[in-house]
Amino acid sequence: MPRRRTKRGAERTPLAADPDVLICGASFAGLAVARELSGSGASVLVLDRYEIGERQTSACAAPTGWLERLGLGRSIRQTFPDLVVHTPHVHARYRLPWTFSTFDYPELCELLAAQGDFGFETAKVEGRTGATVHTDRGDVSAPLVVDALGWRRVLGNGYQPPDAPLSRGLEVHPGGKGGDLEIWIDRRYVPAGYGWSFPARDELRIGVGSFDPRFHVKDTTVLLAEDLRSEPVGYQGNWIPHKLRAAVEDGVFFVGDSAGHCLPLTAEGIRTAFYFGIACGRELREVVAGTRTREAALRRYGEFSDSHEWKFRWMLRAQRLVPRVPPRLLGPAIRAMGSKRFVDWSFEHYLRIASPEFAGEGRPAPEPLRAAA
Ligand SMILES: Cc1cc2nc3c(=O)[nH]c(=O)nc-3n(C[C@H](O)[C@H](O)[C@H](O)COP(=O)(O)OP(=O)(O)OC[C@H]3O[C@@H](n4cnc5c(N)ncnc54)[C@H](O)[C@@H]3O)c2cc1C
Repeated sequence: MPRRRTKRGAERTPLAADPDVLICGASFAGLAVARELSGSGASVLVLDRYEIGERQTSACAAPTGWLERLGLGRSIRQTFPDLVVHTPHVHARYRLPWTFSTFDYPELCELLAAQGDFGFETAKVEGRTGATVHTDRGDVSAPLVVDALGWRRVLGNGYQPPDAPLSRGLEVHPGGKGGDLEIWIDRRYVPAGYGWSFPARDELRIGVGSFDPRFHVKDTTVLLAEDLRSEPVGYQGNWIPHKLRAAVEDGVFFVGDSAGHCLPLTAEGIRTAFYFGIACGRELREVVAGTRTREAALRRYGEFSDSHEWKFRWMLRAQRLVPRVPPRLLGPAIRAMGSKRFVDWSFEHYLRIASPEFAGEGRPAPEPLRAAA
C-alpha cells in the first residue's frame, strides 16, 4: 500500500484562497496545465486529495521524447527500442521508430511540479456550483477552473461504470527485472483487451486491461503474473475512459481522463494528458495576460480538443475490431504487421496524434493552438 502523507484530522483546516486559476487534480494533466502557467503572473492553486506523487495512477510508460521535452528525463527507469507482442501462437518483436520509457511516478510528479509556480493543498473535490468548487475543506472560487481529476469528471457530468464507455485496468508491481516492453493479446487473459509487462529497472508492472468494463481483470492479472513467475503484489487499478468527451462544459476546462483524452485501443493517456494540458495552459495564459477573454479561451480549447475527435474515433474502431479477429488469424496478422515499413508508418502516425514537439523547448512559450497535421 502507498504510504499516506495526506493531511488528516485537525490538519485539514478550511481552505482560504482566492486564486486566478484553480486546477483540480495534480497528476499528469493538472501538473501540465500548472507548468504552462508558470511565469504568467497568475496566482494558481492546485488541489488533489493526495499529496503530489503519492498515488501512482498508471504503469507509467510514455514516449521517451515527451519525457525529455518536458525535462523529466531524470525520472526514467528503463527505455525500450522494441515492442514485443505475444499471441497464443505467434511472438513478434517490432523495432519502433521511437522509444518508450518507463518512469518513476513520484519523481516525475516532483520534477513536473518544480517547473510550475503554484500553491498546493490536499482536499477532496466534491462538486461545483458555477465557478465555486466544493471541497471537504470548504469552497474555493476562481474565474478560471480546470478539472484534471481523472475519469470521474467530478466538476461536470460524471460517468458511472460499468455502463459508461470505460475500460478497466489493474496491475501488480512485483520486484524483478526484464529487458522488454511486452504485451499479450490472448483470450486466456482478457476477451477484449491486452495484458502487459513493463519493466522499470528493479520492478515489473504486470497488468491486464479490458475494453469491456464488465470483465473483472483481477483473476487474470494474477494469472499473467504467475505465468511470468512473479508475485501478484502491489495492486494498482482504475477505470480508463475510451471515448473523447466535451473538453469544456459550463465554463470549466476539462483535461486528461476527465475529457476522455486517453487513447482508445492502447489506453495511453499520459502523453495526451500532457498534450491537452499544455494546450489548456496556453489558453489560460492568454486570459491571464488580458489578450484573450475567458469565453474565447473556452471556445478555442474546446475546438482544439474536438479537432482530434476523428483520430480518437479511428482508434476506437480499431479497439472494437481487434477482439473480433478470429484467434487463428490473429497470429498471422500480427506477423504481417511486423514489416519495418508498416511499423515505422503506423507508429509515426500514432505518435503524431499527440507529438512531443507540441511541448516546445525549455520554458513554455505561448504558441498558436494548432495540432500537428
Ligand atoms: C492500470 C493502468 C495502467 C496504465 N498504464 C498506462 C501507461 O503505461 N501509459 C499511459 O500513457 N497510460 C496508462 N494508463 C492510463 C493513464 O493512467 C491515464 O490516462 C492518466 O493517468 C490520465 O492522467 P490524468 O492526469 O488525466 O488523470 P489521473 O492520473 O487519474 O489523475 C487524477 C488526479 O486527480 C485526483 N483526484 C481524483 N478525484 C479527486 C477528488 N474527488 N478530489 C481531489 N482529487 C482527486 C487523483 O488523486 C489524481 O492525482 C493506465 C491506466 C491504468 C488504470
